[in-house]
Amino acid sequence: MQQVIVQKFGGTSVGSGERIAAVAEIIKNEAEINTVVVVVSAMAGETDRLIELSKLFGDNPNTREFDALISTGEKVSASLLAMALNSLGLKAKSYSAAQVSLKTTSNFSKAKILDIDKTKMEEILADGSIPIITGFQGITETGEVTTLGRGGSDTTAVAIAASLKANRCDIYTDVDGIYTTDPRIVPNAKKLDAISMEGMLELAGQGAKVIQIRAVEFANKFKVPVRVLSSFSSGTGTMITLENDTMENAEISGIAFQTDQTKVTFTAVEDTPGIASKILGPLSELDMKVDVIVQNVGIEGKTDFTFTIATEEKSLLDEAINNIQKSINYKEVIIDDEIAKVSIVGVGIRSHAGVAAKAFQALSENEINIGMISTSEIKLTLVIKKDDLEKAVKVLHDVFELDK
Ligand code: ADP
Ligand code: ASP
Ligand code: MG
Repeated sequence: MQQVIVQKFGGTSVGSGERIAAVAEIIKNEAEINTVVVVVSAMAGETDRLIELSKLFGDNPNTREFDALISTGEKVSASLLAMALNSLGLKAKSYSAAQVSLKTTSNFSKAKILDIDKTKMEEILADGSIPIITGFQGITETGEVTTLGRGGSDTTAVAIAASLKANRCDIYTDVDGIYTTDPRIVPNAKKLDAISMEGMLELAGQGAKVIQIRAVEFANKFKVPVRVLSSFSSGTGTMITLENDTMENAEISGIAFQTDQTKVTFTAVEDTPGIASKILGPLSELDMKVDVIVQNVGIEGKTDFTFTIATEEKSLLDEAINNIQKSINYKEVIIDDEIAKVSIVGVGIRSHAGVAAKAFQALSENEINIGMISTSEIKLTLVIKKDDLEKAVKVLHDVFELDK
């Protein structure tokens, strides 16, 4: 029986005319067997170029216009891919998010998908046409164009797969699967044939860029089988499995990292109840995401309070600090964007106290200083200097023998 497969192609996969032609062949092959719905990202580098352009008239462009601008890259690649398919004799049509009523919340640049008009997509398929849908973008109830955050095309694809109850969502990218860490940093990283949803949620949540965290959350919630594979070479890629047993044996499933992070420290705040909420409250009112949080031991009633945010939200910090100032006293605010976060992810952390000790020792032997530490059931996150990141990832990958 014919299956419904959603195929998503990332930026490098559609980065040139030649690449678009190659992708058209992949779609053609799949469409000979199955019903195919395609989601595309903008051509490689295009979203970055548009973001640079948005600063032409000031560093903080209007958020509505910003999303209207940066969503345009996906229109270009979708249309070109439809043309490439047409040239192979296939019926294909490009659609924007608005044309398939992909409805989102109205928070620009980090909108969340609310609903997709499945009937529109079914009409296109019934007409024998392959829909090529723009990833990354959405439309609000009132018709405003939104975007879903960097890497958001993955989420578009999984959401469409969920709404169509597709048999699988294939995420085509420039690596041939999910590895124990970014293979560009650690060349001997090991490719995984399968990874559990739980493991992938943690890896993606800690920054493994290969798939957007929201996409994994969608897949988990709606039980969509997802596969990550290369559009440059053949191979079966990595399945993200809905069962959790693949991880049971792997103590550590991988190392993830993020560089686009900023550390904020309020020094000499009063060590009294309520201080954390007085600092973090104004940030959450601005919808800012705070990650690692550390409050030092108080000395003579004063303490330092430190947290990390995504650097792309740094522009909101002035307003947050203004509001914080109204309710607490402190000496100064120190802002440091030369940091990175590295996380060890795996169920082993839950049961083996030794994981942290082993990581700390390996880093100290390599003279890598740890600025902040945060742990959960299945991850250990360390904040370090950005310059130390590559070395830290290699050292940790090595000490936990993830290449084996
Ligand atoms: P696309 O444009 O196809 O969406 P991305 O650049 O967003 O591609 O994601 C693919 C990249 O993710 C890879 O080139 C690789 O450098 C990086 N990456 C980070 N962590 C991992 C990992 N654990 N496994 C595989 N790739 C990873
Ligand atoms: N083009 C968007 C970005 O660069 C979305 C994506 O690639 O998934 O973030
Ligand atoms: Mg991506």
